[in-house]
Amino acid sequence: MGQDYKFKRVLLKLSGEALMGNQDYGIDVDMTSRVAKEIKAAHDNGLQIALVIGGGNIFRGLSAQAGGIERSTADYMGMLATVMNALAMQSALEQAGVDTRVMSAIPMTTVCEPYIRRRAVRHMEKGRVVIFAAGTGNPYFTTDTAAALRAAEMNCQALLKGTQVDGVYSADPKKDPNAKRYDTLSYHTVLAEDLRVMDASAVTLMRDNNIPIIVFSLSQKGGFDAVMRGQSVCTTIKT
Ligand code: UDP
Repeated sequence: MGQDYKFKRVLLKLSGEALMGNQDYGIDVDMTSRVAKEIKAAHDNGLQIALVIGGGNIFRGLSAQAGGIERSTADYMGMLATVMNALAMQSALEQAGVDTRVMSAIPMTTVCEPYIRRRAVRHMEKGRVVIFAAGTGNPYFTTDTAAALRAAEMNCQALLKGTQVDGVYSADPKKDPNAKRYDTLSYHTVLAEDLRVMDASAVTLMRDNNIPIIVFSLSQKGGFDAVMRGQSVCTTIKT
C-alpha cells in the first residue's frame, strides 16, 4: 500500500474556486465529485491525506470589507464559507466511499468536530481523510496560511496546492504563450519575486519547517495520483 508514493502523509489545499467548476459562484456538485475521485485514488493507494479548502467561491473577507462590512466580521463570514465547502467535500468523499472527518477551527459541535490536533492525527492514522474547516480560526489570515499551519502540525511531508495550471509560470500561461513553467523554485525566489503562489506567511512557514510546496493541476484526470508518483509535471518549491 502506498509504496509507489514518495510521501506517506500530505496536505492538499484547494481554493474555494476549485469547487466552482464553470459557475461564477458557489459549489458545483460535479466538480466536488470529480475532486473526490482524485482524492480517493490516492487514498486507496495508502496515502494519508488532509484537506484545507478555501472559501473564495462564496465569501472573501477583503472584498466584503470593501463593500462596507467591518474586516474582522467579514473574515469570520469567510471562515464560515469554508465550513460549507468542507461539508460539501465531505459529502462528495463519503459518496465516493472515503471515510472522512470535518474538523473546524471555530467550534460548532452540532455540525462537525472541533479541531484537536491529536485527534486529527489519530483520524489520519486510521485512514480517514481529515478536512480542516474555518481556516486558522482567526481573522486577517487566509486558508493558505491555515493549510501551511495544519501541514506543519500534522507532520505532513508536503503541501500540495491544486490549481488550474500545472505549476508556477513566469507569466500567466493563458495570456502569454512564452510563459515558462518552473520545475523547481526556492522559497526565497517565491518570496523575493513575490510570485504569489501562496501567501508569503504560508511560504515562510513551509520554509522554516522545510516542507516542500507542490503546485499541480487538478484539471487532469488522475493528476493527483500522477504527481504523487512523480510522473506528472508540477512545480516544487523547496530550499
Ligand atoms: N479567513 C480568515 N482566516 C483564516 C482563513 C480564512 O479570516 O484563517 C477568511 C478570509 O476572509 C478569507 C475567507 O475566509 O477571505 C476565505 O478564505 P480564502 O480567501 O483563503 O479562500 P480561497 O482564496 O482559498 O478560496
